[in-house]
Amino acid sequence: MKPLKDRRLRPDAEAQGHEGHKGDEGNAPLLAVRDLAVDFATDRGRVAAVRGVSFTLKAGQSLAILGESGSGKSVTGRALLGLIDPPGRVRGTIEFEGNDLVGWDENRLNTVRGPGISMVFQDSLDSLNPVFSIGSQLTELLRVRQGMDRRAARERAVSLLRQVGIPAAGERLGDYPHQFSGGMRQRVCIALAIALRPRLLIADEPTTALDVTVQAEILRLIRNLRQETGMALVFVTHDLAVARLVATDVAVMYAGKIVERGAIDAIYRRPAHPYTRALLASQPESARTWSDLRPIPGSPPDKAHAVPGCAFHPRCPLATARCTTEAPELLPLAEADRSSRCHHTEEALHAAH
Ligand code: ADP
Ligand code: MG
Repeated sequence: MKPLKDRRLRPDAEAQGHEGHKGDEGNAPLLAVRDLAVDFATDRGRVAAVRGVSFTLKAGQSLAILGESGSGKSVTGRALLGLIDPPGRVRGTIEFEGNDLVGWDENRLNTVRGPGISMVFQDSLDSLNPVFSIGSQLTELLRVRQGMDRRAARERAVSLLRQVGIPAAGERLGDYPHQFSGGMRQRVCIALAIALRPRLLIADEPTTALDVTVQAEILRLIRNLRQETGMALVFVTHDLAVARLVATDVAVMYAGKIVERGAIDAIYRRPAHPYTRALLASQPESARTWSDLRPIPGSPPDKAHAVPGCAFHPRCPLATARCTTEAPELLPLAEADRSSRCHHTEEALHAAH
């Protein structure tokens, strides 16, 4: 047990999972992403999907990456696992446990994928192999990657399926993906993703395709697994209300950049960036009446043509001439551990909610 004094100094210890128990402020982060940029060659020229993303994550910490479709969330998540294939190009650094993964070949990356970083993909309902039973997909992974024998792999597979809440797990090993409902298939995908006990799990919109009630169960499962295992989580979503259920911190992305970063509850109560504010107002959960619900006017910028100045200015109610020419930096706010990329942060913070 840590002395009480320590706990008082680290009010975030519980929310941050195991990190709080190390008690060493000087600990290197689990993940440090610096100036990550990803672009793709297309017949319309180079498309910049991610344009200079930086963030750090401590062991056990949970970060939501929030943004509209096309903002670069999935590309960021895939880049962390080295899954951007040519003609995609990755620049910047992705330091995981002290090693920069950018430029690593497949063999070296495969030592990290699984036990280091693992991912539940956005299209994971299609990512299970339809021709193998879920038992064989799990046991194959355990045998190849952990050298388990048939019997040990089978036992571990059953225990994993139990851990993700699949009823009668032992009887379902021989079943094929199509024999499971959407929610149960997603649980199988999560079992595969945590099978090698990752220190970091990336979950890319894992509940978007599911019914609301099933969605809640999967979110609870992810939250519980994180608490049980102490793994860090990057949770990708377009829904701030969903993000709040599983993450303590949020990075809001717009047009390939982080525009706001900080503790999720603080940002939910009082967003500092006009885009975050607009995103909140556009979500049904935050509206009490139909007239509260305001879609964000306009559409996200076309990736092949960079918007001069702040990328959000064509849609922003606070935009001035400066916003059309000068790109704002992500700057810290007076409030601790928060930052925002806006020339009018003060005004945005004080605008009526
Ligand atoms: P989201 O935030 O919805 O997850 P993505 O990260 O998937 O967005 O995509 C960001 C941008 O990058 C989009 O404009 C998308 O069209 C583009 N993009 C993603 N993958 C590729 C690719 N392989 N080739 C070309 N463009 C891509
Ligand atoms: Mg996506």
